[in-house]
Amino acid sequence: MGEAITTRISHWTTKCLSYAGRLQLVSSVLMSMHIYWCSIFIILASVIKGVEDLCRKYLWHGMNSSSKGGLVNWSNLKKLSFWGITKPNDASWSWRQMVNIRSKIESFFVYNLGDGSRFSFWFDPWANGMSLVNRFPEVDIMDTDIDRTATVNSLWRNRSWHFPDPFDDYTLSIWDYIKRKFEINPLRPDKVLCKPHDDFSIKSSIMDKLHTRDKMLKWGVIHSNSCCFCNSKTETVDHLFFECDYSKAIWRKLLVDMNFNRDSYHWRREVSSLVRRTKGKSKIARDRKNTFCAAIYHIWRARNEKIFNQNLMKEGMLVALFVLVQL
Ligand SMILES: [Zn+2]
Repeated sequence: MGEAITTRISHWTTKCLSYAGRLQLVSSVLMSMHIYWCSIFIILASVIKGVEDLCRKYLWHGMNSSSKGGLVNWSNLKKLSFWGITKPNDASWSWRQMVNIRSKIESFFVYNLGDGSRFSFWFDPWANGMSLVNRFPEVDIMDTDIDRTATVNSLWRNRSWHFPDPFDDYTLSIWDYIKRKFEINPLRPDKVLCKPHDDFSIKSSIMDKLHTRDKMLKWGVIHSNSCCFCNSKTETVDHLFFECDYSKAIWRKLLVDMNFNRDSYHWRREVSSLVRRTKGKSKIARDRKNTFCAAIYHIWRARNEKIFNQNLMKEGMLVALFVLVQL
């Protein structure tokens, strides 16, 4: 996998890409290769780290640079919670993007309160899955006399909570809520766990984020949004993966292989139909899931091959590739 990514990065056309171009390549091609392999095999953590290193280096410096990323003033940053950082007007583009995706990734984490030394009192979602500022949106932090950077354990002494005198009844209700529901356990460190999500829902949201030509035309990056396979319809996710004759021919063959005797559906229906039929850990469920992921990945790859190298992969060849993948 590392080799495949290095080959892709070192191709001459990718060497002179701008930062925006490299970002596009990493998010649409390199990351989808990575996700594809991870959805089929259990990959060693060291391999994933290596791939992420490659992508990161390429994103920031291009291929031929050995320099490292810019250093972050960590001692300043670590006092703040990721969930509580406000977006300064002069923040870099990448920093603004990270701040923007917070609401989308919040539900992936579970904060288990232990000794309270790592969690931000106001901003980390340690209070039954929510942060205090979200649970009590009318609170004015300045009035409570508890600093924005305070950790949870700074309010705990001698086995009980010690809060400043409440400014009003609303603040008093917050202190009561915490006293009733939570305790600090000094012997157990705070833990942040990643919640498993249904992998199909993740994959379909990834597909929604693919930079198809309809979106790129809206951003003014390209001048035509027509599908590279049929040249007649607009390239949307629905069209590219399910409605175009090119993809339909692939699906028809694969649906027969998966013992579904029908034409392909609209893609959202296709995903929900597959979610229902691929539940469980049986071999057939696993094979169907793999086939679906492989089809999406290879159609996207064939599309990039056509656009960037003017090379049209025949549908039959793609189907043969899927079969090889599954052996
Ligand atoms: Zn088409």
